[in-house]
Amino acid sequence: MNIRNPYLNDLMERIVRRDPQEREFHQAVHEVLSSLAPVVDARPELASSGVLDSLVEPERTIKFRVPWADDQGRVHVNRGYRIQFNSAIGPYKGGLRFHPSVNESIIKFLGFEQIFKNCLTGLPIGGAKGGSDFDPKGKSDAEVMRFCQSFMNELYKYIGPDADVPAGDIGVGAREIGYLFGQYKRLTTQFSGAITGKGPAYGGSLARTEATGYGLCYFADNMLRAAGRSFAGATVVVSGSGNVALYACEKATALGGKVVAMSDSEGYVYDPDGIDLPLMKQLKETERRRIREYVTHRPSAQYHEGCGGIWQIPCHIALPCATQNELDLPSARALVANGCFAVAEGANMPSTPEAVALFQEQGVLFAPSKAANAGGVAVSALEMSQNSMRLFWSFDEVDAKLKEIMTRLYHSAAQAAERYGMPGNLVAGANIASFSKIADAMLAYGLV
Ligand code: NDP
Repeated sequence: MNIRNPYLNDLMERIVRRDPQEREFHQAVHEVLSSLAPVVDARPELASSGVLDSLVEPERTIKFRVPWADDQGRVHVNRGYRIQFNSAIGPYKGGLRFHPSVNESIIKFLGFEQIFKNCLTGLPIGGAKGGSDFDPKGKSDAEVMRFCQSFMNELYKYIGPDADVPAGDIGVGAREIGYLFGQYKRLTTQFSGAITGKGPAYGGSLARTEATGYGLCYFADNMLRAAGRSFAGATVVVSGSGNVALYACEKATALGGKVVAMSDSEGYVYDPDGIDLPLMKQLKETERRRIREYVTHRPSAQYHEGCGGIWQIPCHIALPCATQNELDLPSARALVANGCFAVAEGANMPSTPEAVALFQEQGVLFAPSKAANAGGVAVSALEMSQNSMRLFWSFDEVDAKLKEIMTRLYHSAAQAAERYGMPGNLVAGANIASFSKIADAMLAYGLV
């Protein structure tokens, strides 16, 4: 789809020509550039200075071999990545994803999104992302440990508390962060805040585990209230059952909603009485089992094969918290037809562009991921602050700061949208609010 500003349109075409196979990256860049037309119209120096040409090219791409041995002594070789996208406003920051689907396009799209998300938190952090096509599912703890140690044997050269601070993402939870940080500490002889998402026993922040899911609901709550709505009494569907989904379910319930469905990559459960969260946490967080086992403990619930069907369940609020492009146009149509009035994205870019366009056309309140799921990285930045100060804040202190950050973030996106004549369009508002600050920093540096 053409972008109405000729410079931005030409830039988009050049990006596609240069790396034609990077579809996810094109999708993420197209969404941002499309929102920026009014800003570039008002500030032509943004085109002539080359700031946007620089912004869409990573500062550095690190790609490496990760050899590891399984429990039978067989050697496997995976591919590792760290894309240090932009450090205009602070050290690179962004998670690591371990999943078989990981490739350069996916890490690039995530790193690009991270630049804007991190800026929106109001904290001084640049954007990066990394990961590997390694699949932790079905591996023993010892295999995961050997993989993480091998991954860090290369990565440690490029990271540090003032340089680049990785964290978790899909497939990288508390266990993986422990192995990664342990190896970093061994290799560098430094106990520093070079990784976030650490356990509270060794420098982690309280409330980091809950931060993305809670932050999503704080953001959504602001958006709902501004429209005279709320979670109270609403039926909610949450896709996924990982870190983001579990804590989104917890906070949505605390705010008065009833979560009736959750999923994993194989299927979904529908529990009309409301999801039994302690049971779900036990199965997915503690025991790492499949979601289908939920119904053996709750016979009143139903299990359906295939994760995409979850969007057919009638709900008022949808929280996609699994993965990119999981909510397509037919799913969006089903949500709208069933009376859904709000969608807030917990995963990164879970709605396809066609789905987003439909929500906007139909007046469905829509909270885009780069704003709505920024709570995780915000608390990661708070973890960096605590590590630097050698201080440790209580759960309530961190949670209160998270709530304040998400509320401020909502207002800055909403106000930017309003200022540029697109009231209620939080996609444009989030892109414009963050871009202006990053561009000003880049302009101040001159050609870098
Ligand atoms: P986890 O690995 O903890 O969980 C991912 C969940 O999604 C799992 O339940 C997985 O199922 C499920 N899943 C994967 N693919 C699908 C699919 N196609 N349909 C339905 N379910 C699926 O990851 P996180 O919760 O950490 O991350 C989820 C999303 O949130 C990602 O997009 C991530 O980038 C984003 N995010 C995460 C942050 C964080 O702090 N963790 C911060 C900001 C964004 P299975 O168990 O079968 O694999």
